[in-house]
Amino acid sequence: MNSHVLIAGAGIGGLTAALSLHAAGIDATVVDSVREIRPLGVGINIQPQAVGVLTELGLGDALAAVAIPTAEHRYADSRDELMFTDPRGLARGYRRPQYSVHRGELQMLLLDAVRERLGAEAVRTGVRVERFIQSEEEVRVRVTDRATDAASVLSTGLLVGADGLHSAVRAALHPEQGPVLWSGVRMWRGVLETERFLTGRSAVIATDGPRPDGRHGAQFLAYPISRPADDRGRSLLNWVALVTEAEPGPLDPAAADWNAPARPEDVLPHFEGWRIGGRLVHDLVTGSALVLRYPMVDRDPLPRWGEGRVTLLGDAAHPMYPVGANGATQAIIDAGVLADHLAAADDPRAALTAYETERGEATARIVRASRRMHESAHSGAGAIDAITSAFRAATGG
Ligand SMILES: Cc1cc2nc3c(=O)[nH]c(=O)nc-3n(C[C@H](O)[C@H](O)[C@H](O)COP(=O)(O)OP(=O)(O)OC[C@H]3O[C@@H](n4cnc5c(N)ncnc54)[C@H](O)[C@@H]3O)c2cc1C
Repeated sequence: MNSHVLIAGAGIGGLTAALSLHAAGIDATVVDSVREIRPLGVGINIQPQAVGVLTELGLGDALAAVAIPTAEHRYADSRDELMFTDPRGLARGYRRPQYSVHRGELQMLLLDAVRERLGAEAVRTGVRVERFIQSEEEVRVRVTDRATDAASVLSTGLLVGADGLHSAVRAALHPEQGPVLWSGVRMWRGVLETERFLTGRSAVIATDGPRPDGRHGAQFLAYPISRPADDRGRSLLNWVALVTEAEPGPLDPAAADWNAPARPEDVLPHFEGWRIGGRLVHDLVTGSALVLRYPMVDRDPLPRWGEGRVTLLGDAAHPMYPVGANGATQAIIDAGVLADHLAAADDPRAALTAYETERGEATARIVRASRRMHESAHSGAGAIDAITSAFRAATGG
């Protein structure tokens, strides 16, 4: 029987799955549609449970060398007046830290580990998964070579769709899946090097008061993401600006592009006079070499993810709002659980069912909690305690 696992997508979820499967003695290959994997994105957060998965994979030291072990979330208003502080990670009593890290740097760290452990050929780029058919014994996956446009078929024992928000594997499994849903909130992001930000381990979440229409207008977050910068007494500071732009509703999926560039002028009018962690928001935004925009989107949870020899993982399975530090965290946890079930079961299809049973409802709860947290922050119903209690529900923190 074909026991090989083909993973579609070399994001944080797909690469961690390859490492977890390899550690469990299971043969895996990763394909990604991009021609070259480049360290894209800005800051992300990884919760202690996911840090545990990476640490068990022997990546604890490598992670500690690049990431910031965030110790506190400070909640403030737009004048930089502190409302309260919420301890995080080790400071909250977890065995592992919560890390803030550059997404691209984490992805490259995982990619290097996969190539070193599974071999240089274990990650193939420029290979886009299109669709698949499966039988009792195998999955036949149709792929396109991006360089030549040539189609071919790969035979595998199992297919894991870790191909993100716009997953082709999910679309093939669930042609009736609902639309990409936009909360109406626009998110801009950027990164810049500054003097050390507060303790160097602090994240600040600044929210303005309700506006005349009852809605909160804006939120601005800032946190450092680089250990090497911290070692030099500086901070590589990641910022996120959130503004309500439209009523919630379905969105053209093409509009949800993590790499879409924006201009500082798009952001600044919403944050005139704002201060965060002793800095002017204006200076953070104008000091960033690149500003990116993204709509706050997710999808409704699926009643089931996969079928037979095919399953989903990470954003492909449960796209959620990037609030509460959960996108990468849940993808990493999925990867560990998937490998554990495959290692323990005789029948891989039973292992996929067990994996989905363990992860399906847990992640659906987080999708819903992330929505509640986000709505609290932007609806005006949002007393700060509603935001934080939803944040805790979403992060288990
Ligand atoms: C370029 C990029 C930048 C991002 N930047 C940020 C950020 O700054 N902040 C943040 O919070 N989150 C960001 N995210 C999202 C974040 O990485 C995820 O929410 C989280 O890490 C879960 O990752 P994932 O592996 O499930 O999905 P993703 O990180 O989305 O990875 C999916 C991978 O699948 C590949 N892929 C897609 N379709 C196919 C296909 N048909 N065949 C083969 N491969 C395919 C993609 O190229 C990608 O590498 C970004 C995602 C991407 C892709």
